[in-house]
Amino acid sequence: MPKRITPEERVARMMFNRAPTLKIRWARCVLPARSRHVCPRCQKKAVRRIAVGIWRCRSCGFTFAGGAYTPTVERR
Ligand SMILES: [Zn+2]
Repeated sequence: MPKRITPEERVARMMFNRAPTLKIRWARCVLPARSRHVCPRCQKKAVRRIAVGIWRCRSCGFTFAGGAYTPTVERR
């Protein structure tokens, strides 16, 4: 009987796959976008994306512009 893996393990394996398929590339963008992030004002993990590039904290109501998939964008 094959070893059963949890959904988290499956996602982790997808993240480190060498040749990502379209579905995996989609998951890399969308999964961080749907998860919660730390609020820059109240430091609570309650920031969710309400539209592409727009983020709102559910705790303090702080709305700010950010990246399409993450609230902060790495600038070089
Ligand atoms: Zn907040």
